[in-house]
Amino acid sequence: MAQEKFTFQAEVSKLLDIVAHSLYSQKEIFLRELISNASDACDKLRYAALTKPKLIEGDGDFRITLSVDKKARTLTVSDNGAGMSHDELSEVLGTIALSGTQAFVEQMNAKAASGKKDSAKTGKAKKADKGDDMSLIGQFGVGFYSAFMVADTVDVVTRKAGEDKAWLWSSDGRGEFTIDDAERAARGTDVILHLTKTEEEYLEPLRIETIVKQHSDHIPIPIILKDGEDGDRTLNTASAIWTRPKKDISADQYKEFYNHVSHAFDEPWLTLHNSVEGVVSYTNLLFIPSNQPHDLFHPDRKAQVKLYVRRVFITDDCEGLMPPYLRFMRGIVDSEDLPLNISREMFQHNPQLGKIRSGLAKRILGELTKKAEKTPDEYAAFWENFGGVLKEGLYEEPENRERLLALARFRSTTQDGLTSLEEYVSRMKKGQEAIFYMSGDSIEAMTASPHLEGFKASGVEVLLMTDPVDDFWVPSVGDFDGTEFKSAARAGADLDKIKGSGKDKDEDEKATKAKDKAAGAIAPLLAQFKVALGDEVKDVCASERLTSSPVCLVTGEGDMDARLAKMLQQNRAAGGLGMVPQVLEVNPGHSLIKALNKRAKAGDGKDSLINDAAHLLLDQARIAEGEPVKDAQAFSRRLSAMMESGLKV
Ligand code: ADP
Ligand code: MG
Repeated sequence: MAQEKFTFQAEVSKLLDIVAHSLYSQKEIFLRELISNASDACDKLRYAALTKPKLIEGDGDFRITLSVDKKARTLTVSDNGAGMSHDELSEVLGTIALSGTQAFVEQMNAKAASGKKDSAKTGKAKKADKGDDMSLIGQFGVGFYSAFMVADTVDVVTRKAGEDKAWLWSSDGRGEFTIDDAERAARGTDVILHLTKTEEEYLEPLRIETIVKQHSDHIPIPIILKDGEDGDRTLNTASAIWTRPKKDISADQYKEFYNHVSHAFDEPWLTLHNSVEGVVSYTNLLFIPSNQPHDLFHPDRKAQVKLYVRRVFITDDCEGLMPPYLRFMRGIVDSEDLPLNISREMFQHNPQLGKIRSGLAKRILGELTKKAEKTPDEYAAFWENFGGVLKEGLYEEPENRERLLALARFRSTTQDGLTSLEEYVSRMKKGQEAIFYMSGDSIEAMTASPHLEGFKASGVEVLLMTDPVDDFWVPSVGDFDGTEFKSAARAGADLDKIKGSGKDKDEDEKATKAKDKAAGAIAPLLAQFKVALGDEVKDVCASERLTSSPVCLVTGEGDMDARLAKMLQQNRAAGGLGMVPQVLEVNPGHSLIKALNKRAKAGDGKDSLINDAAHLLLDQARIAEGEPVKDAQAFSRRLSAMMESGLKV
């Protein structure tokens, strides 16, 4: 067969360009990446052989071999894993497979886009910032393509397990690669690096040994160095790291393993290494990342913990192992009891797996509780990253609701930093019967909202919630320890009942009476507003909460929260759910309202100015909510009429 030529996917070329020109100080990570791929290939075959034992016939001892040829200046990484077919080869080593690499490329694109913007602004071209790019590679790793950091040509000779034919993939990393016929005595893959002149250090056995010990010691199969002078040597510990006693594992070793299993390159924020023995027995080595993984809010909400059964890798896509609200967890679970040779799909419904899952969830939440108590600042950093995901558990897993409520943290109108519900309740005013909260898109918009005026004036704390999930869990949870959650954007906030806003009891009572009187006084205006607005609103009533704005919109008691209704509406096809009309609250103490009321009282109920004022104030309230004005033409007409009448006075 003649040689075939292929071009790399555009992203790969871009990536290769960065990699090839790198002055990166940690080029040595290329070896970690290639060893990691070799180890993955062995895992893959070991799993396939559970159902097709023929695939590993004759050679069941998986291993990775490193060999150097000083004369030819080559370093070769070989494995007896799954190998690749012709099609896999052209597909996989020409595109970007690894999610971490994908994230790296996305970051690069985002940076390129913002760089363009910058240069458009300043009129100067922005210098390519190689240093930054490289620190990104350090963060993400770039998988197979990192070989081009040290090699000017890379050859891959591979033969897929179960096939007779072998292939040679070859590239100088400049946009194209070729595939040729090749010979290989048995299944597996050799990655042959033709090192550039400046990278000869990677031909030195001692240098190789140091790198392997540092970055790849956790690989559970032997990594053997073929050293002409000293013969073959195994460089790594070559046992699964989670089977070793905790005291023998250093923080660095845990980190390397975390980086390997998660394809992430940050430090683990928390490491959970335990063995459980009992009805079900398993070992878990789990990590919580320090940074948000880039696919945290991907709609499939997949957890990414790997399942092993008695040291054999089974799957990294096991739905029943980790609930979606813990999908930020990374690492492995190794079960002693699950059957080895059942299909991946059948695992989902296995009762033992259910036990493991609930045991893990309890342990993780327990550790989080400890962190929250002992190191609240560190916990706050965790919460900023993953709180929005963890809260999904509040409605998805009632059995852990209490723990999750205790773990939840919030911003609030009266506190700097984060607060817990327990702390909020301990600060509640005398007579306050509910936990007040508000949900919205940003803290700034909520803080400026008219809804909070009365709460601010009376010093009543309101929790500010910005995660979309808040609109779901609050209604489904309902209360914390018997204290009900109440939206500050709802009618009947009962602020008057809360004492302590005035100096003493008498003053409180006086203030309440004065308010009732003011509310009664604007009854004529309220009545005319109701007629004018008709179905546009659910009701018009006097407000207890407003101090400086004339009006605001609140959700009627028992109605769906406005933000939730909006979200549901956006998710439905046009013509779906209509918006629920809201209640217009009017501030009896506001001078504009007082003046309008005077006019309403004196008039005959058919005053067009009152009618226009009602609509304009409703539009104003909508604008304050960040909503568009419903009928822009009518709004302009009314505003003009109002200005004209003002000029006539
Ligand atoms: P990742 O390992 O995250 O998938 P890489 O860029 O490191 O990304 O590797 C790309 C793909 O190339 C792998 O997913 C695998 O399919 C294939 N591959 C690389 N090295 C080997 C190997 N030694 N044996 C078999 N397949 C390999
Ligand atoms: Mg890889």
